[in-house]
Amino acid sequence: MTKPITITDVRTILTAPEGINLVIVKIETSEPGLYGLGCATFTQRYLMVATAIEDYLKPFLIGKDVSRIEDIWQTSMVNSYWRNGPALNNAISGVDMALWDIAGKRAGMPVYDLMGGKAREAAAVYRHADGRTVNEVEDNARKFIEQGLLYVRCQMGGYGGRLHDIRSPEGALPGAYFDPQAYARDTVKLFEHMRGAVGNEIELLHDVHERLTPIDAVRLSKNLEPYRLFFLEDALAPENVDWFKVMRQQSATPIAMGELFTNPQEWLPLIENRLIDFIRCHISTIGGLTPAKKLAHLCEAFSIRTAWHGPGDVSPIGHAANLHLDLSSYNFGVQEWWGPQDIIYEMFPGTPVLTNGYVYANDKPGLGIDIDEKLAAKFPCDNTQSVRPPSWTTARTPDGGSARP
Ligand code: MG
Repeated sequence: MTKPITITDVRTILTAPEGINLVIVKIETSEPGLYGLGCATFTQRYLMVATAIEDYLKPFLIGKDVSRIEDIWQTSMVNSYWRNGPALNNAISGVDMALWDIAGKRAGMPVYDLMGGKAREAAAVYRHADGRTVNEVEDNARKFIEQGLLYVRCQMGGYGGRLHDIRSPEGALPGAYFDPQAYARDTVKLFEHMRGAVGNEIELLHDVHERLTPIDAVRLSKNLEPYRLFFLEDALAPENVDWFKVMRQQSATPIAMGELFTNPQEWLPLIENRLIDFIRCHISTIGGLTPAKKLAHLCEAFSIRTAWHGPGDVSPIGHAANLHLDLSSYNFGVQEWWGPQDIIYEMFPGTPVLTNGYVYANDKPGLGIDIDEKLAAKFPCDNTQSVRPPSWTTARTPDGGSARP
């Protein structure tokens, strides 16, 4: 038996090139020059993830065989006994993606080839168009359409539509205030306008971001039906997923769900009961490529497509991992794409490229992406920005009550 290649070091790289805290894991091995990179980004609590990696996972992993990806994933998940939380799942994801990156480099194959090969040449993506008026949203959507995009997510006034004068009680606490009823009314007007403006050739999407009560979300999904959305995203909070049964009975608007999910018990009932059309987990928050590939296969059996979460708080390594899944999955739907600034291509050579509506991977072994650690060190993370009130996560309804963000 040949001697296995083993893990010799596990390091976190914390960097914020676009002002968003990112957590990258680098695994070094007993083979000189062979290393892997993974995404462990839980931007709001990045120091918790770094601690989980450096102080808990690293001692557990040193000396382990890099080829044992499945066993390392399973044992890391139960090594702390308590499991399925976002901090630990992200930490495990950083390790898991790095091991897939190493496996690809050893084989001389891109990860999408390890996962069955390309089922398509590139991934269709959507970008996010916002604005304060329907015309402003249209103008911003048209910029993307002119660049070749076939899918655009349309929002007005940010999540929850923060466009209205809010009358709150005296002494109301600070927060990111929004009016759910005004938001729901505006959203119907927005899509009436957008469908008329862009015709039927462009796919339109919308993210409710859990801003409505369940019955108001059901009503919105019915009211949006005439405008043929590609999908309605996060129409309900994870705590209210039983309401998807009611939504299904009332409306044929396609449903996308899952960016907050951390536990398989959250997605299983929605899949087996065919209550959603797109699964869109944040793949580092469910534990990396290993569980995400299994989830994609599970969804395939129920004709549910993938639309993995892809905002700016997924690192470029995570975006590359999303793309390897997109390319190798039969049931790929669409990919969210954040539009990287130039610094990203400098700091993360090999970051996938958007051309004419599609994102392309390179054919380098592994995830095909690297990091310039010296440059990354020039963009340190900031532990105050995500906790300074009132940030967007401190959402409040007009009466001052706390709301889901
Ligand atoms: Mg979302």
